[in-house]
Amino acid sequence: MELSYILNQLGEERENYFNAVSPPIIQSSNFCAKSVADLRKILSNEYETPFYTRGYNPTVGILRKKIAALEGAEDALVFSSGTAAMAAAIMSVAKAGDHVVCVKKPYSWTNALLNNYLVKYGVSTTMVDGTETKNFENAIQENTKLIYLESPNSLTFELQDIEAIAKLAKQKNITTIIDNSYSSPLQQSPIKMGIDLIVHSASKYLSGHSDVVAGVVCGSSARIKKMFGEEFMNIGGIISPHDAWLMIRGLRTLEIRINRVSESAAQVVEFLENHPKIEKINYPFSKNNPQLALAKKQMKSATGLFSIQIKAKDISQIDAFCDNLKHFLMATSWGGYESLVFPIGALPQAKNSGLPFNLVRIYIGLENPEILISDIKQALEKV
Ligand SMILES: *Cc1c(COP(=O)(O)O)cnc(C)c1O
Repeated sequence: MELSYILNQLGEERENYFNAVSPPIIQSSNFCAKSVADLRKILSNEYETPFYTRGYNPTVGILRKKIAALEGAEDALVFSSGTAAMAAAIMSVAKAGDHVVCVKKPYSWTNALLNNYLVKYGVSTTMVDGTETKNFENAIQENTKLIYLESPNSLTFELQDIEAIAKLAKQKNITTIIDNSYSSPLQQSPIKMGIDLIVHSASKYLSGHSDVVAGVVCGSSARIKKMFGEEFMNIGGIISPHDAWLMIRGLRTLEIRINRVSESAAQVVEFLENHPKIEKINYPFSKNNPQLALAKKQMKSATGLFSIQIKAKDISQIDAFCDNLKHFLMATSWGGYESLVFPIGALPQAKNSGLPFNLVRIYIGLENPEILISDIKQALEKV
């Protein structure tokens, strides 16, 4: 389906709401039936009929159609956070006695879910270095039901060979899930590479304005329908109609935002690659990335997020660099309009994490890249 059609038209039945250009926020918990016969019909299909907003809400319904189409999937569900989406997807596949193979260094709460939480429900996990496909193969056990990927991850940006791993999983009847938040549906299409379920933190690019926390899962109708009847309805981590509306509005500009942050970040990276105070850049399309060929094979481009290691004597110099930036907000998350800086050394667990003290994550927003480059330049001069 054509991208601008998805973002501007798909799912919007304007004749049903006064031909309003912008869809209404249907702020109603429940919807009534005209007769008992009508009620019976509604109850037979809560998956796509307005009855109770924990199941289906028309504003959220518009969003579900757009999200599924963006990923080239048959259907999608929208959740109250990326973490809720990821938990529902994993729990829809792995039950007591099952084993999961997960790429190392995923999003922190993915790691916590698998290694601290789901162990209480009898699910075991092996974490593997994802840069070699054979590490996944070697970790597979008789009871392995799920391979979980995040390519690239959002801190050091290592990739996995998505197509090769999906093929391996299919041969062994193992379900695959990927966290595709970094690339957004525009720059990487995991369904085409054979992945079964795609999750996103929609708090990032899909919302795009740092005003919504949400998540999505995309996949086949069969998988999504099953998830709807189990994890979605049972755990009930739904998005509100208002937040769904904000997401629909954010999606209108998804393409121009992704293009802008991707191009600006590439310019900033080029500046940093030639800067004497930079020790290392972690960015999928960096000319020095040993995985550059794989990045080019499976991603259209990198997006707005990367990390750098600055040549510094000690952490106080890293603090000084971050404190001296004037056009970057010091905050977590990313994917909005505003540029961000996050020094990894500020995390309480940084010392024991094995991560280098001089690692700083940068997100490039929609500002003029020239201004961002000169800001980074002056802050580096003070290191
Ligand atoms: C932010 C993030 C998440 C978690 O999403 P929330 O919406 O904050 O729950 C998951 N994966 C990645 C890669 C993220 O950046």
